[in-house]
Amino acid sequence: MNKSRLALAALLLALAARPAAAKLRVVATIPDLADVSRRVGGGLVSVDCLARGPEDIHQVVMRPSFVSKLNRADAVVYLGLSVEHSFLPGLLDAAANPRMREDPAVLGCAGPGCIDCSAGVRVLQKPDSLSRAEGELHPQGNPHYNLDPEDGLLIARNIAAGFSRLDPAHAADYERNLAAFLDELKTRIAEWKKAVAPLQGLKAVSYHKDVAYLGRFTGLDFIDTIELKPGVAPTPTHLARLVREMQDQGVKLIVREQQYESRTTAWLAGRTGAKVAVIGTMADALPGTETYVKFCARNIQALLDAAR
Ligand SMILES: [Zn+2]
Repeated sequence: MNKSRLALAALLLALAARPAAAKLRVVATIPDLADVSRRVGGGLVSVDCLARGPEDIHQVVMRPSFVSKLNRADAVVYLGLSVEHSFLPGLLDAAANPRMREDPAVLGCAGPGCIDCSAGVRVLQKPDSLSRAEGELHPQGNPHYNLDPEDGLLIARNIAAGFSRLDPAHAADYERNLAAFLDELKTRIAEWKKAVAPLQGLKAVSYHKDVAYLGRFTGLDFIDTIELKPGVAPTPTHLARLVREMQDQGVKLIVREQQYESRTTAWLAGRTGAKVAVIGTMADALPGTETYVKFCARNIQALLDAAR
């Protein structure tokens, strides 16, 4: 083999190796978004996830590995609406990645690598003006829209649009993967909508104010929370009032998000005769829920089981 043919062989080898090296490097803040990113990105992306499913998204502990992951990333996929406030703004600063920076003006990420999954979400419990009046944790309205499977469709569309923007050469691949995911999720949504019919109008309380979107999907009427306000622990006065309220309104269902302590919930259930459904507020929070679809399915089953 002469020199030029050797050079050509080396070049072909380098080209052949490119697709793997050229994978879009994606960092997702939570397991739901990591799963949907993998579905939409297929073999064209490599996905790292920051928060672990059982963590409280409002109190994710920053780990040093987060910084190096975000520093190398082409895209960061996040829920937005300030829900990643405990770790994302500081992380964007620390990672010093020119493709994504913390911008106080938009209360979040700015730059070509930012993929905000809340784009187009009909935000519930939005305060009239941006304030901390609704509690420290939800200044832009309720950010837990990932609990409504129908918003999962929007999440996937936002991720596909972001990937296509960053990697237009593969836009058709992302569109095809998106279509397959949407088909699967829509089929499940149709099944779940039928299954949740018995929950329509049923009154319930939750621990944290994160079930507005789940209520919208299931028809459950969430009248109050065990927490005094988002992020504010219950007081004895509040709990006494909550017992009376639940008794007066015949509330027989309590939803406890797995990351919240079980003692107060069990006490309240004992006082009111209500049943407790344990749900996850992120994928992989509960065993066997590592995908977004499994996460939605398990939450709905938990509600149906407790409401029976
Ligand atoms: Zn919250």
